[in-house]
Amino acid sequence: MTETLTGLGVSPGRAAGRTCRMAGPPALPGRVPVADPGAELERALGALRATAAELAARAEKASGAEAKAILEAQSFIADDPGLHASVETAVGSGADAAHAIDEACAHHRGELLAAGGHFAERAADLDDIRNRAVATVLGLPVPGLPDPGHPFVLLAEDLSPADTVNLDPASVLALVTSGGGPTSHTAILARARGLPAVVACRDAGEIPDGTWVSVDGLRGEVETGIGEEAADGIQRRAEDARRRPSASSGPGRTADGHPVALLLNIGSAADLGSPGAGHASAARGAGQVDAEGVGLFRTEFLFLDRREAPGHEEQVAAYAAVLRTAPGGHVVIRTLDAGTDKPLPFLGLAEETNPALGVRGLRVSRVRPEVLDAQLDAIAEAARTTGVEPWVMAPMVTTVGEAADFAGRARDRGIARVGAMVEVPAAALRAGRLLDELDFLSVGTNDLSQYAFAADRQHGELADLLDPWQAALLRLVADCAAAGREAGRPVGVCGEAAADPLLATVLAGLGVTSLSMSASAVPAVRESLAAHSLARCREHARIALDADDPAQARRLVAGDR
Ligand code: PEP
Ligand code: MG
Repeated sequence: MTETLTGLGVSPGRAAGRTCRMAGPPALPGRVPVADPGAELERALGALRATAAELAARAEKASGAEAKAILEAQSFIADDPGLHASVETAVGSGADAAHAIDEACAHHRGELLAAGGHFAERAADLDDIRNRAVATVLGLPVPGLPDPGHPFVLLAEDLSPADTVNLDPASVLALVTSGGGPTSHTAILARARGLPAVVACRDAGEIPDGTWVSVDGLRGEVETGIGEEAADGIQRRAEDARRRPSASSGPGRTADGHPVALLLNIGSAADLGSPGAGHASAARGAGQVDAEGVGLFRTEFLFLDRREAPGHEEQVAAYAAVLRTAPGGHVVIRTLDAGTDKPLPFLGLAEETNPALGVRGLRVSRVRPEVLDAQLDAIAEAARTTGVEPWVMAPMVTTVGEAADFAGRARDRGIARVGAMVEVPAAALRAGRLLDELDFLSVGTNDLSQYAFAADRQHGELADLLDPWQAALLRLVADCAAAGREAGRPVGVCGEAAADPLLATVLAGLGVTSLSMSASAVPAVRESLAAHSLARCREHARIALDADDPAQARRLVAGDR
């Protein structure tokens, strides 16, 4: 019997296959008295040796030199005699195997953190080893991305951005998570990879491993209990649809020719279908994408799973790869947006009680100014070596002073076009003054919703507040666009709002000059703009600004077509 589970569809497309769950860290059971300490020690050491062997095997298979080095180092730590001696001590004082591993890893983790610097950066390795070895001892599934040896639909509580970056699109057919929200980075990365995804699907935790399911990432539905034959048919049709070329092409225009540039959101050159950029991050089916440039290059995605700050040469190469391959030779590079849901361990930021309201985005340069300076140096050099002049913008700009400081640093390095993302209501309210200092603005509706509505963007249950059709959000966008018009400077939208074809007409009517989105969203947005005159778009904007709630706005704007 089939059953349909619902969640939030965050990345359109269909897929079907067998499920495989990403296990979370194992919980420790209560302590049990140990009858045979010798056997208990052997169980604990056996689990650590098995973990070391498994990590060494993964190192062998890893494609990148860095991933290989990290896995090899982890394998050595799991086999380290010092760690094994601590396990022996713990068993000697009465601990069972699982608790002995936990205590020994906690002890060594504490030592690494106390040593600071490079050593502290390895603390996360010990957490990983602990989770793997404890799961082995308890006979639980080993945490981390699964590798069942066949294509699968990945089930998880939630994924970290680093997990999502490492997904292999050749084996993961779709994502279903029980947590997560509509503009979480899991959702954004799934869209960038062209992976159908449903988040906030509460009952996903109940689906047994190996169940045949179909996933509809547009409607937010997961159908369980379908047979293998039905799954094969759905998967074949989905692959055919992905291969079909898009019906539309060319620059973004309303029906009467008003230009609204269609740009791409990317995390690396691989999202442009660039060869040699690493299979793990390549968008499915990405060929040369028909768009007018890159409107948001999220540079932090290059460094999410890194333990050390990337060096100058590596950064120059990463930025140059995008500058060379971007359509139209137009690229808006965003400087590192670290913090909150995109932690970068090498920054060594202090833990915060309220990280979304803390040191993130441009604010990181208050405590680590050299990181931003090094990035701007690398961007400037990539521009010189490629001859392509990027536009460069900072995330989370809040005040005019911050905008002026950022612009000064960038211009000192010869970067000519400097801008800011508008993600904080304070910046939207001062858009005109920001444009005295800057050349352009790009509205990040994901964070602007989060901060305007005081609703965590990762929170599936607050999705209604994060709906980009909310009139208060659109009012802030309208104010930015009006400031741009007055100053004669471009103001685009690069949050997920830009990917909604009907909302794109509203945004065009509000006066935004570009819309930036993942590649898969471009054709539908292009077709929607082409079907409406500018006057009609302005009418849509008026209706949406006046609506009492998102559902009414959608209904009235759709009815106005
Ligand atoms: C945004 O906040 O809308 C945005 C585009 O930035 P990110 O999603 O990377 O925070
Ligand atoms: Mg943002």
